[in-house]
Amino acid sequence: MTAMPPARGCGNAPVLKERGQREVFCGLTGIIWLHRKMQDAFFLVVGSRTCAHLLQSAAGVMIFAEPRFATAILEETDLAGLADAQDELDREVARLLSRRPDIRQLFLVGSCPSEVIKLDLGKAAERLSARHAPHVRVLNYSGSGIETTFTEGEDACLAAMVPALPKTQARELLLVGALPDVVEDQALALLDGLGIGPVRCLPARRADDIPAIGPETVFALTQPFLGETHAALIRHGARHIAAPMPFGEEGTTAWLAAIAREFGVDAERFEAVTAAPRARARKAVEAATRTLSGKRIFFFPDSQLEIPLARFLTRECGMEAVEVGQPFIHSEIAGPDLALLPEGPVISEGQDVDRQIDRAREARADLTVCGLGLANPLEAEGLTTKWAIELVFTPVHFYEQAGDLAELFARPLRRRAALKLEAAE
Ligand code: SF4
Repeated sequence: MTAMPPARGCGNAPVLKERGQREVFCGLTGIIWLHRKMQDAFFLVVGSRTCAHLLQSAAGVMIFAEPRFATAILEETDLAGLADAQDELDREVARLLSRRPDIRQLFLVGSCPSEVIKLDLGKAAERLSARHAPHVRVLNYSGSGIETTFTEGEDACLAAMVPALPKTQARELLLVGALPDVVEDQALALLDGLGIGPVRCLPARRADDIPAIGPETVFALTQPFLGETHAALIRHGARHIAAPMPFGEEGTTAWLAAIAREFGVDAERFEAVTAAPRARARKAVEAATRTLSGKRIFFFPDSQLEIPLARFLTRECGMEAVEVGQPFIHSEIAGPDLALLPEGPVISEGQDVDRQIDRAREARADLTVCGLGLANPLEAEGLTTKWAIELVFTPVHFYEQAGDLAELFARPLRRRAALKLEAAE
């Protein structure tokens, strides 16, 4: 049931620590997938027109749907301290909630401007929660580019929810991380097949299904970027089940196996439940592996998914990792994936973008995974790139998505090969 570690993994590999200019989206981006997940939540960004534009363009698809996020624009008078932004925020929230009785959770999301003027959103959330309870719970977190990279927005949001969760003494499994409903349902079906339950999810789809936590809660992360949430859950008595992330056949099996061990599931039942989807996943990955095998890959630190993805691509798709950069390396979360990643790549934490661009140019890997801002210039230099942000917008977890995950990396390589062919003709 356990994934075999390589003779020499990256568990104790030296980490190149970089502290310099970063090239990543801010944590507001997380609202795009969080608002889809939490169906009765509303995200009110307290920010500038720039923040509003980011959300509008990133979430253009929302034009025809009832929006579940908005930006309360801080005007120049607020920024200059000439108006009482707290009073305006109270009025804005009262207007919103009277118009939208369907809202059960309201997140006040901090931004660069609200942080620069030190607008205390924690105080605002407390005051507004008292005013609008019990129907609406008001919480706050920061999505500012000063404090967060793009996946840290989800981490900050979930961490903010933890102290407000109800308490329980029940032994329950908590799955932590916002997954598309269809993917979450697949995970729940597998766990149910293994006889593991009750299982709760954070975030829950609706406020009425919010999980409770306590000393008998054990939790498994489905996303590797949830360091603050991990710490908050442990502070509130829950226990973490450390495991590789459920990417690919091997990652999913190792993730399920760690939970199965915790709940005493026997090997026979584990095999019976996982054999068919494992075979399907292996077969689906195989198709992309024909393109990926033997190719070199370089990761800029961006989505925080880099280490588990490098593990999947090297072990299941035959790729060679040259550099694996991650914004932060949280040893308890990244450790199981690092131990499985074969020795060889530079493991880097943080970013000094110019130095890393130099290394990427020198490496000239077959595929470079990076943010949108770097992709076009690197493509112009003849490198083939993959946008890291696609990895959080596309369903990639668990067995049934393993083939799609591998395909996300194979596609740009095929496109580049096709372009070369055209140019040669
Ligand atoms: S929070 Fe900061 S980085 Fe993000 S859109 Fe607003 S101003 Fe830009």
